[in-house]
Amino acid sequence: MSGGEVNKTELVAALINQQDNLIDGIRYAQDRIDGSMSMLLLTPAGLYCARDRLGRTPVLIGKKETGYCATFESFAYIKLGYSDCRELGPGEIDVLTPDGCAVLSAPGTKMRICTFLWTYYGYPPSNYEGVNVEAMRYRCGQFMAERDNLTNDDIDAVAGVPDSGLAHAIGYSNRKHVPYTRPFIKYTPTWPRSFMPTMQAKRNLIAKMKLIPVRELIENQRLLLIDDSIVRGTQLRETSDFLYESGAREVHVRPACPPIMFGCKYINFSRATSDMELIARRIIAEEEGANVDRVILEDYANPDSARYAAMVEKMRDMMHFSSLRFNRLDDTVKATGLEADKLCTYCWNGRE
Ligand code: SF4
Repeated sequence: MSGGEVNKTELVAALINQQDNLIDGIRYAQDRIDGSMSMLLLTPAGLYCARDRLGRTPVLIGKKETGYCATFESFAYIKLGYSDCRELGPGEIDVLTPDGCAVLSAPGTKMRICTFLWTYYGYPPSNYEGVNVEAMRYRCGQFMAERDNLTNDDIDAVAGVPDSGLAHAIGYSNRKHVPYTRPFIKYTPTWPRSFMPTMQAKRNLIAKMKLIPVRELIENQRLLLIDDSIVRGTQLRETSDFLYESGAREVHVRPACPPIMFGCKYINFSRATSDMELIARRIIAEEEGANVDRVILEDYANPDSARYAAMVEKMRDMMHFSSLRFNRLDDTVKATGLEADKLCTYCWNGRE
C-alpha cells in the first residue's frame, strides 16, 4: 500500500514473483493484467524490457558504442548520444547487457498501439512504430481542413491549444492558407501537465493559469481553435470564454479526434472514474437515459448519423462555440499511416 492505495508497481512485482524465473513471471503478470503494462526491470544480469501484450505503449531501444538503453520516448536517448536500435513488438521481452540486446520472448502478431500517443500525449520529436508525432499532427490538421465547410473567407486566424493542439493547427493553417497565430501563450514554469493531478478542480485551475492571452491577436478576430480532443469539455469551454472576454468575435472549435465515448480502461489515460464524466456521454444520457443500448451508442459514434449531428450541436451550444466540428476517426487513423487494426481506438468506438 502507498497513500492508502494499492501500489501498482509492487502489485506487478508480486505477480512476477509468482513464477520461478523472470521471463515466465513477466508473461504471467502480462496475462493477469487487464490493462496495459510495459515495464523495465533492473537486475544484476541486465535490464529486462517488456512491452505490454498488445503493444498499447511503446518500448524503444537505443544504442551507442558503450552500451544500450531503453525508453518510452525515442528523443530521450538521442540527446544522450544513442541512435535508434529497435522497437519492441507487442508482448516482446528483451534483455539489455553491455554487450548487446537479446530477444528472450518473441513478439505477438496482434497489436493495438494507443492512437492518443500521436493525437495528444506523445512528445513531438518521438516516433512510435516509425511514425513521428509532430508529422502525424500536421497530417491530422490537413485532413480536418480538407473536410471543413468553413472557407478561408470565414476565419481570420487558426490557433492551437498548447501544446499538442499547436501542431494540428499548423497542419490546418497550411492546408487552408489561413494565417496561424498564437492568441495565447502557455506559461510553463512551475505548472505540471494538467492531466496529471487526479483532482479535476486542480487540473482545471492549472489549465487556466497556464494560458496567457495576447489581446492584439484576439480582439475582433474570427478564430478557429484546434485542441487535441474534448474529454469533459470544462477546460475548452473556459478557454473559449476567455477568448470572448478578450474580444474575440467568433470562436470555431475543431478537436483533432472524434468525441470520446468510453473512458480508457487500458492505461487510465482519461482518468475518468466513470464514462458519465465524458461530455459526449452526459449529452447522450440526457437524450436516451442512463442505460443506453450498445447499438445506439455506436450510432452516436457514427459521424454520418443524425444522432451524432444532434449531439455535436448540443455540445456546441453548451460550450458557446460559434461552430464545432470534430475530426473523423478514419482521418485520425489515416494520419498515422498505420493499419486501423494495429491501433487502439477504444475510447472513440468502444472496439477492443
Ligand atoms: S482507450 Fe484510448 S487512450 Fe486508452 S489505450 Fe486505447 S486509444 Fe489510448
